[in-house]
Amino acid sequence: MPRDPRHDILFEPVRIGPKTLRNRFYQVPHCTGFGSEKPGSHARFRGMKAEGGWAAVCTEEALVSVDSDFWPVVSTRFWDDDDLRNLALMCDEAHRFDSLAGIELTHGGAHARAREARVPAVAPSQLASDYDHFVVPKTMEPDDIRRVQADWVRAAKAAREAGFDIVYVYGGHSYLPLQFLSPFYNRRTDAYGGSLENRARFWLETLELVREAIGEDCAIAVRLCVEALGPAGVELEEGLAYIRLADHLVDLWDVNVGSITDWSKDSGASRFFPEGYQLEWTGRVREATAKPIVGVGRLTNPDRMAEIVRSGAWDLIGAARPSISDPFLPSKVEEGLYGEIRECIGCNICISKAEWGSHIGCTQNATAGEEYRRGWHPERFERAENADRDVLVVGAGPAGMECAIVLGKRGFRRVHLVDAEAEIGGCMRWIPELPGLGEWARVVNWRRIQLEKLRNVEVIVGERLDTDGVRTYGAELVVVATGAHWAGDGRTYLTHDPIAGADASLPHVLTPEQVMLEGKVPPGKRVVVYDGEGYFTAAGLAEKLAGEGFAVELVTCLDKIAPVCDETLEGPLLRQHLHDRGIGQRAGVVLSGIEPGRVAATDEFGEALELEADAVVLVTQRLSDEALYLELRADEDALRSEGVEALYRIGDCVAPRIVAEAIFDGHRLAREIDAENPAVPLPYRRERISLESAALP
Ligand code: ADP
Ligand code: SF4
Repeated sequence: MPRDPRHDILFEPVRIGPKTLRNRFYQVPHCTGFGSEKPGSHARFRGMKAEGGWAAVCTEEALVSVDSDFWPVVSTRFWDDDDLRNLALMCDEAHRFDSLAGIELTHGGAHARAREARVPAVAPSQLASDYDHFVVPKTMEPDDIRRVQADWVRAAKAAREAGFDIVYVYGGHSYLPLQFLSPFYNRRTDAYGGSLENRARFWLETLELVREAIGEDCAIAVRLCVEALGPAGVELEEGLAYIRLADHLVDLWDVNVGSITDWSKDSGASRFFPEGYQLEWTGRVREATAKPIVGVGRLTNPDRMAEIVRSGAWDLIGAARPSISDPFLPSKVEEGLYGEIRECIGCNICISKAEWGSHIGCTQNATAGEEYRRGWHPERFERAENADRDVLVVGAGPAGMECAIVLGKRGFRRVHLVDAEAEIGGCMRWIPELPGLGEWARVVNWRRIQLEKLRNVEVIVGERLDTDGVRTYGAELVVVATGAHWAGDGRTYLTHDPIAGADASLPHVLTPEQVMLEGKVPPGKRVVVYDGEGYFTAAGLAEKLAGEGFAVELVTCLDKIAPVCDETLEGPLLRQHLHDRGIGQRAGVVLSGIEPGRVAATDEFGEALELEADAVVLVTQRLSDEALYLELRADEDALRSEGVEALYRIGDCVAPRIVAEAIFDGHRLAREIDAENPAVPLPYRRERISLESAALP
């Protein structure tokens, strides 16, 4: 299918200062967790997006000074020649595919813990950080200001030498330049505080110095949260006023909303923010500048992108998450392969992994973060050495669907994906039905299209296979992906034992699947949803039941309601949202007994309490559906006599995990199904520090 001519506008080149972008797709700076620690992974990760058609790919935060360090959060630093050499790898990767490389030079100011360097954070004024309340910075003296500006210039010159085309004087997310600009952080009474002109002075001076040093060779970009949507920054009118002041020094305005404490409103989860949500504020930046503008808003729809450009609001379509979920989004639009676009679902697992895990990963794109260390390419699959076999995949949940797709792309003769239910999707048949999670259905939608297209893959639904059915199916390779279910006896991480009276065969005790799939309705009016997991399921069920008229109390044995959602930037908004819907919330409460009409519990100090409840929904822990696999494994002779050469299991059937990990597991097995022992992942390439000299100084 040729490209829709309405999208041609997205492929026009755009000039920014001395550089030209080959189209309007721009990967804005975003964190990865690779930082200075994993330069190879970082280079390949960005290079993949350049190959996929993004006209510019940018680093994550690259900190200019020793006192700008966020450790233990991993980030890139740009302090010395070793950093230069490592970052040059990324520039080479970008240039290999005719993309520009951008570097997010910045300084964390009040938020920089500098725990590694053991120096105090520095800021315009001595006010405790709203990012880490335990950091109280030093007020910057004039010498500190000049030192940081000199660091910025040094880093900018080094960035030019490394090969960067776009250099940021980055003040997004309430970093140091914005801290000077914002009265929330800046209480100075000298030439750097007070009026807007004074508060803008640090940023303007730094821009002037950087422009003077490298402006002929590199495009100078500024990122600015034009509306903080909270106290930690500036409001829109002041944001626009700053743009007018600095416009002559800037080649590209990269604009967004939120702040470091209100990052949840910048990297908005789909639960609360629809595609294009930032336009409400960043759509007004044109009033203040004629220079190129790039904005973001989890955009994956090319019609919408073209409309935005045509309206004149922005010149470039910026993306972090849509480029993680599909690094080849621009090429797919260019070639008219619209159905191939693997759209971001707005779950923010990428952020949770980059900030709290070892490094970035993605629910939709199993290859994200694996480009270097496992050599995975999201669009290229090698024919398997054992592709002449037939494969049976039992279970069409996220793991089974992904595995069947990759096996199909690896050229297997026949792949049968069989599921007991009438629809594919497994747990993803009902999770997107939870309030706010509709966009998560994209996990199944994209895979359904892929499965339909692969001629060597057949999907069979409504067929529950038992051991005999599997053995005699006629496949040489068998993959069991039968998933997991929620425990019906209330066991949690805390006690490891059932709760007295918890039995999901009783009318007043329910599991998530019973509510969502079986139509089991709580008797009475008062419902306790008991959460031992702390992610989206209990909160989602509480909201759903409250919406149906039940009086719902969400009770958790954890210290906080839905703490895992804090990692995905949903937590504070979610707790407020539940509160606004009249849902009671109790943390630190351990259920000890369930009876019709009441539950017995203890509070966080061990004091007994009783809650009135006509029904209890147990969201305590999941258990793998592994019986089929274990029975098959128990009789290897029976398998062999029917011609089954190998049996594997993947996804929640191995251990219940988040959807991203189930998909990854299915993908991994299919990528390595012709390895010596596919059940065990192949070793991945590690990036280790090795000292240049064997002798210590
Ligand atoms: P995962 O997250 O690991 O992919 P899910 O629980 O989402 O797991 O999906 C498992 C799927 O396996 C469900 O759709 C379920 O209907 C299917 N399934 C489980 N047991 C069988 C079986 N014996 N035969 C066919 N399908 C099965
Ligand atoms: Fe989008 Fe989720 Fe992937 Fe992040 S992890 S890019 S939010 S699909």
